[in-house]
Amino acid sequence: MELRLHDTLTREKRTFVPLDPNNVRMYVCGPTVYDFAHIGNARPVIVFDVLFRLLRHLYGEAHVKYVRNITDVDDKINDRAARDFPGLPLNEAIRKVTEQTGKQFHADVDALGALRPSVEPRATEHIAEMREIIERLVAGGFAYVAEDHVRFSPQAMNAANASLPRYGALSNRSLDEMVAGARVDVAPYKKGNTDFVLWKPSKPGEPSWPSPAGITAEGRPGWHVECSAMAWKHLGEHFDIHGGGIDLVFPHHENELAQTCCAFHQQRMANYWMHNGFLQVESEKMSKSLGNFITIRELLADWPGEVLRLNMLKTHYRSPIDWTMKSLEESAKTLDDWYRVAADVEPGRPAVSVVEPLLDDLNTSLAIAALHSLRGSDVPALAGSLRLLGFLSESAAQWEGRKQQASGVDVQEVERLISERTAARSRKDFKESDRIRDLLAAMGVAIKDSKDGTTWEIAR
Ligand code: AMP
Ligand code: ZN
Repeated sequence: MELRLHDTLTREKRTFVPLDPNNVRMYVCGPTVYDFAHIGNARPVIVFDVLFRLLRHLYGEAHVKYVRNITDVDDKINDRAARDFPGLPLNEAIRKVTEQTGKQFHADVDALGALRPSVEPRATEHIAEMREIIERLVAGGFAYVAEDHVRFSPQAMNAANASLPRYGALSNRSLDEMVAGARVDVAPYKKGNTDFVLWKPSKPGEPSWPSPAGITAEGRPGWHVECSAMAWKHLGEHFDIHGGGIDLVFPHHENELAQTCCAFHQQRMANYWMHNGFLQVESEKMSKSLGNFITIRELLADWPGEVLRLNMLKTHYRSPIDWTMKSLEESAKTLDDWYRVAADVEPGRPAVSVVEPLLDDLNTSLAIAALHSLRGSDVPALAGSLRLLGFLSESAAQWEGRKQQASGVDVQEVERLISERTAARSRKDFKESDRIRDLLAAMGVAIKDSKDGTTWEIAR
């Protein structure tokens, strides 16, 4: 069966045909590193990790290149740096913030079972490529310089009758309507009110680089051009898949696409544009002011990363997710069970019943339903399929041990009580054995007797 992916640009599910099956190329917009990532940010990380794993399964590990950038030039980073390190020069403070938050991000997404992308480019290391793209856009008449800014003109793009895509095609908007709907523009250096910035002057103390297009003052890039430059450098002018959250379709991806296609005079930037739906928490939009803003780090204190991963994948990536405590508890129970039955089993090949729904535009919810069926019919295939999806990174004992540790239960004490209870049972002192069972229950430990002896686990 072939892989089919939904493309935001053409608004249809199409068979995936890579430009080069020996070098399948995917770019996903990564985080802006100024604080702990929240659980919404984990969604594209997990979704595109599953796609990365599936592509590696189909084309071979050596034949898939996954690029996820790190945005380290941004006003929010500057603000954070000035706030957290007021005594340091701004540039040094910025480096401290991005280093620290970059590390936090890696630790978090590693815990979610996400493979590291093939390349994680940083915006600040690609200023030369940004300048080059900007020069090309100015030379082609798609961008102009005014008051030390360089701006891109969507109207110039749509007026050019070269074989270029139409600005607005990705987000399904009409430029005329955007122009009509825009506020009367106040900035004197902006010719059209839909124009967006490619390069701007830096304020004193802010990070700055030599400017393109003959501007003498130093400056810094706009956000959209960063991704065009990094994708170009690592994947070329035209590649297979571009992904991110649905909020990025407009303006970020519309603008990336415009810049890249106009700079290189081509119809397409990526052949498939994929966007994950939004995540909300207990039926509400997540926001700091509502007090329901949850970081990945906070959740990892209470749940193993694979529980968060499973919880995310229960919903198809294009649907909205409602992140609830109840669903997390169910995901934890499911994984406990899968670890018990499958983690120490020699994995078989991933089951067709799991791979097929994944090939159908990453239908992970159907794939997970198939995992439940395999539990009772083919445990080696369950183990192989779980591994394909990025689960079972630990042994059953490690999983249980970590849970026990996290719960604060004294393992030795539990083992001692269980052997006392076994002794009581064998002398038929059921009053004593019940007392010990209740004592364990009060400690949060559930026990199970079978013909092979007594096992225990942390009751959630
Ligand atoms: P940002 O650092 O805000 O640019 O976001 C990094 C990635 O997380 C982007 O792909 C966003 O689309 C995605 N994202 C941010 N918030 C959410 C959310 N609540 N649900 C799903 N994806 C999100
Ligand atoms: Zn981007």
